[in-house]
Amino acid sequence: MSAAEIAAALRDRQTFILTSHARPDGDAIGSQMALAFALRSLGKQVRNVNRDPAPLPYRDFPGVDGMEIAARVDGDADAVVTLECSDLSRPGLAGLEPYFVINIDHHIGNAMYGDANWFDAGAAACAEMVADIIDELGVAWTPEIAAHLYLGIATDTGCFRHGTMSARTFEACRRIVEAGVDPAKMARRIFDSFGIGRVKLMGTMLSQMELVHGGRLALLQFDDALLESCGATIDDTEGLVNLPLGAREVAIVALFKRQADGTTRVSLRSKGDVDVRSVAGLWGGGGHKNAAGCTLSGDFASHKRDMVAALARVIDR
Ligand code: AMP
Ligand code: MN
Ligand code: MN
Repeated sequence: MSAAEIAAALRDRQTFILTSHARPDGDAIGSQMALAFALRSLGKQVRNVNRDPAPLPYRDFPGVDGMEIAARVDGDADAVVTLECSDLSRPGLAGLEPYFVINIDHHIGNAMYGDANWFDAGAAACAEMVADIIDELGVAWTPEIAAHLYLGIATDTGCFRHGTMSARTFEACRRIVEAGVDPAKMARRIFDSFGIGRVKLMGTMLSQMELVHGGRLALLQFDDALLESCGATIDDTEGLVNLPLGAREVAIVALFKRQADGTTRVSLRSKGDVDVRSVAGLWGGGGHKNAAGCTLSGDFASHKRDMVAALARVIDR
């Protein structure tokens, strides 16, 4: 489908439940909220239902305080719109199956699970797709809409460092600024609004960093005890995986987040043509070429050894 066809499917309906993936990131929140504001301006009823709350720095963005945090969805709606979700399990919500589902996503491997699907791997952020849909709906970009579109684009590109950025990305940004967003202020708000525990955690995590494969692969790790000793929360960890990429020779970073239940969530980041999505896929995860993730359960040490070997192979490819 196209932006125009999704817009038609939205225009034909009146009541919506919007959601995005569990543990939402900036693009999840930004895409969802921008679309929510646009639909409401057309007089439609919109509920935002998410498995997990927004990360702290995004919580004072417009409309975010109205998010319903729940483990399942119920209630009448003409459609559920899933943003940023490659399959119907990504929202982490029970009860989605009976609804008319509109799937809007840019992750390669999208399962096209919706009743209406628009998948565009050429979009740097899902928010870029939402921008097109809002234009097709004929809704003007208010400051609220523009702020959320910027949140999605700035975070998914690592502040304009990676992803499938194109002229379309910067045309959207041009119009975002025209709509009243100050990009410098917004960057401080998005990227520099954490607690001091984050800065302490950076120091500790980096001092414990392992460099392998000739220094081309950096391994980071934290658990609840480390967060607590630094006075940091899980919100403070957003984006820390990128730090070692500041070194020229580092091609991949793997961040292992040890969970209380024994599982380990892995965040992978890479530069250029080094594809970490293929490695995340080996453990049932996904994402993009330069930013991917998965969850490990079972023997961590052996998974870590296998993953380091797989990551070394994609560096050498
Ligand atoms: P993160 O490292 O959590 O910021 O995630 C980076 C990218 O990988 C994002 O596009 C996520 O949507 C994707 N991702 C992370 N974890 C998973 C997973 N378990 N399954 C599929 N995609 C994932
Ligand atoms: Mn995301
Ligand atoms: Mn995204």
